[in-house]
Order: sequence, then structure tokens, then C-alpha cells
Amino acid sequence: MTAAEIRQRFLDFFAEHGHRVRPSASLVPSDDPTLLFTNAGMVPFKRVFLGLDELDSKRAVTSQKCVRAGGKHNDLEEVGKTTRHHTFFEMLGNFSFGDYFKSEAVDFAWAFLVGELGLDPERLVVTVHHTDDEAEKLWIEQVGVDPARIFRLGDKDNFWQMADTGPCGPCSELHYDLRPEGERGRPVDRDRFIEMSEDGRFVELWNLVFMQFDRDAEGVMHPLPAPSIDTGAGLERLAAVLQGADSNFHTDLFEPLLARVAEVVGRPYERETDAGVSYRVLADHARAVAFLLADGVFPSNEGRGYVLRRILRRAVRHAWLLGRREPTLVHVVESVIDAMGDTYPELRQRREHLLTTTRAEEERFLSTIEGGLDRFEELAPAGGTGTIPGDEAFRLYDTFGFPLDLTELMAEERGWTVDAKGFARALEAQRERSRADRAASGVVVEGGETFEGWSGSEHATQSFVGYAGVEARS
Ligand code: ATP
Ligand code: MG
Ligand code: MG
Ligand code: MG
Repeated sequence: MTAAEIRQRFLDFFAEHGHRVRPSASLVPSDDPTLLFTNAGMVPFKRVFLGLDELDSKRAVTSQKCVRAGGKHNDLEEVGKTTRHHTFFEMLGNFSFGDYFKSEAVDFAWAFLVGELGLDPERLVVTVHHTDDEAEKLWIEQVGVDPARIFRLGDKDNFWQMADTGPCGPCSELHYDLRPEGERGRPVDRDRFIEMSEDGRFVELWNLVFMQFDRDAEGVMHPLPAPSIDTGAGLERLAAVLQGADSNFHTDLFEPLLARVAEVVGRPYERETDAGVSYRVLADHARAVAFLLADGVFPSNEGRGYVLRRILRRAVRHAWLLGRREPTLVHVVESVIDAMGDTYPELRQRREHLLTTTRAEEERFLSTIEGGLDRFEELAPAGGTGTIPGDEAFRLYDTFGFPLDLTELMAEERGWTVDAKGFARALEAQRERSRADRAASGVVVEGGETFEGWSGSEHATQSFVGYAGVEARS
């Protein structure tokens, strides 16, 4: 079953059950400066869950474009290494706005996976929040799931929130058993299940969120006007399962992109090698870059634009590792437009913009990357180990355009670490200098948006605020 068929069957199934089919919203949340990108299907409905807006139907179904790079849900570092994480992906979701609740939600999910798609129920594992007796009972008594295939987990996995504030609630997830033939379907205990979820032997397919609370800035949870349902299933993961692929990357969604990388690089794709990781990073990042540009994000040194720039530069660095010294990602972006332009016409409409911008960014970074890599070699020689000082990481950023997380990633690959706090201090010092310069010259600074976690690093959480100086230098 192709990914396009899965997407359509999902929309059709829920339409038959009274859900209004809605188009994907933009990756840039329309009214939410606290959120970098749309990172789940519920984001466009946030105000509806809060009771602030009303739609003309109490049930909706979507296939929503999502990006998880930067912010609370950040999967950037995972990409290429795991079989199931992307920066850009499509989330299939059904929603109830104060209409049905847990009982129908679990029935729908099971009916779709087992009834419609024909997944083997023996290979499904269900998790519930450890306090949610009601959900567990529904799965056992109403759906008929074997209690041995149900695990109670804590907040980390089974309490969902879009961000630190906003709608949230306990959830229940459906996981699929990908263990080797012979082992699969056999009962496991809870600890083994958790262990195997981490390495991908169980893959999380679908999250059913029982939306009940609105968390405020103090962390206090207020009950929502009406309990609601928000679900999300990764299209790429469903495609992998239904196509019997060992990875999302080996489905019809990614194969044309990997083929294009192979063509440009001039060597076939190999799954198991380090080069394979680079191919996958290029295929993944091309999708994120294409869709972010199409939704109006432009590479820059602050906020959303900075995340886009980091994704672009990470891709260029991987192309460099593959021996490329000329723009590469732009060719893969072109394949994304060709492969997905029917479903997402915005890609076709902005085709020239996507290609020109990607190429320009690649050329810009390629012109400095060599100097940066040389400097990096001096700072963190292979075979050694230690910490790259914060001010050196800052120079790599400021002079050669290496985002902090790129430096961190390269360091980690050879057993080095980076003093991220020192980087943050050096950055802050430079911002202070620039503010003082501007104050002295009487230039008025535009206020920028504030985003937490722009750097992808836990340590440096301050944000760029209208800082024009960096932009001019990189
Ligand atoms: P995981 O534990 O695998 O990181 P998650 O619990 O963070 O997933 P949710 O926030 O529950 O994911 O999102 C709902 C669904 O979206 C997941 O069950 C999965 O199918 C899909 N999904 C989440 N993150 C990604 C990603 N980075 N790439 C592709 N699909 C994803
Ligand atoms: Mg995750
Ligand atoms: Mg999870
Ligand atoms: Mg989840």
C-alpha cells in the first residue's frame, strides 16, 4: 500500500464516521509566537480545544504537515540514526471537539489499524497513563485487547503536551512489534518493552490524547470546557509497517529521494554505512527545507529562520562528508517537489523560490565550510578527547557559520564535547556589544520573536532578538 493510499484511506475512514476533512495548516502556527513550528496535528485546533473558537463540525480529520526541530519536540539529532524520526513528517489525526471521548477514540483506532489496514492484533501493544484505569478497561473489555499487551507508563511517554503551556492530557499509544520473525508476537514484560521501544524493535504508531486540561504558565492545569480527543499517527511509520520496510526511509516516500542523492553523489545508497546516514539526512532535510520555504520561512539568524538555516547547514555538511563540493541539497529538494507537489501544491507554486533559496544558502555555506572544518580539526583532533571551549565554538559560528548544534554533533562523533554554556556567554557578550554599538549610533532595533531552545541545546536557551550583526557576518 502506497503512502498516498494510506493517507487517503485514513481521511476516508474518518469521513465515513462523521469527521470533516480539513486541509493541512501551515507549518508556521498562525497565532502562536510561543511555538516554533506546527509540531502536531492538534496545533491548528488549539483555540478550539480551549473553547475560544468554534468550528462548524465537532469532528475533524487531517493529514498535517509537522516539523520537529527546535523547541519542545526536537528530533533533529535523531534523524538518519533512528529508523523512525524525521524533521518533517505528516501526522494523520482524528479530532473530537467536545464530542466523543475515550470510548469511541479507542474503537476508531483499533478499527482502522486492524479492520481497515489489516494489521495483526497480536503484534500491537497498547500503553496507557499509569493513572488511567478507564482507558485500560476500555481496551480490555470493549476492544478485547489481551491485558498482557497493555502497559502503564508515566508522564514522559503517556502525558502529551504541545508545549509548556496549552492543551494537554493523558494519552494512550499503539505500538507495533517489529522483532524478528519467531520472536514477534510473543509476550514481553514492561521493562523489556520499554527497552525495545528505544531501539526500534517496537515502533510507536499512534498516540491517542485524551485532551482534558489547559496548563498555564505556572504549570497549573485547568480543566478544558469539554473533554476532547486529539490523535496523531505518523504516516511514514504506517507506510513502513504496511510496506514491510525496516525503516521509514525505505518506503515509497523516501526511496525517490535516496535515489536522487545516489545519482548526485554518484554512488549507490548503502544502508549500514556512515554514508548511509548522510544519505538519509539529505533525504530528510530536503523535505523539511522544501516545506518550510514553501510556508514562508526564510533562512536567517533568528527564530524560525535560524532553525531552517541549521537544517540546511547540517545537510550541506553531510553532503560534504559524501565528497560533494557543490550544491547538492537543491537537487533533492527538486525531487521533493516532484514527488509531493500533487498532494501539496504550495511546493509547485513556489518551486523557483525553493530552488533558488536552497542553492544560494548552500553556496554561501560551502564558501566558508572548509575554513571551519580546518579550524575544527585543530580544535578537536580525531583520536583525542576533550572539550571545545565556548569562545572557540562561538568563533566557528560567527566566522564560519557553524551552528552550535552542528559543532556539537561533529564533536560528539569523535568523542569530544563542547562548552555550550561558554558559547552562550560569548554570544551574549557579542549581543551586548552590538546593542551598545547600535545605541551609540542611534539605530532603532526591531523587536524579534523569542523562542526557547533555538540552538537545539539544553544549555543555551536564550534567543536571538532582532540581532542584525550576526546576519551581516555569516
Ligand atoms: P517517539 O516516542 O517515537 O519520539 P512521540 O511520542 O514523540 O514519538 P507523538 O508526540 O506522540 O510522538 O506524536 C504522534 C505520532 O507522530 C507518533 O506516534 C509517531 O507515529 C509520529 N511521530 C512523532 N515524531 C515523529 C518524527 N520525528 N518523525 C516521524 N514521525 C513522528
Ligand atoms: Mg518523540
Ligand atoms: Mg513516544
Ligand atoms: Mg507519543
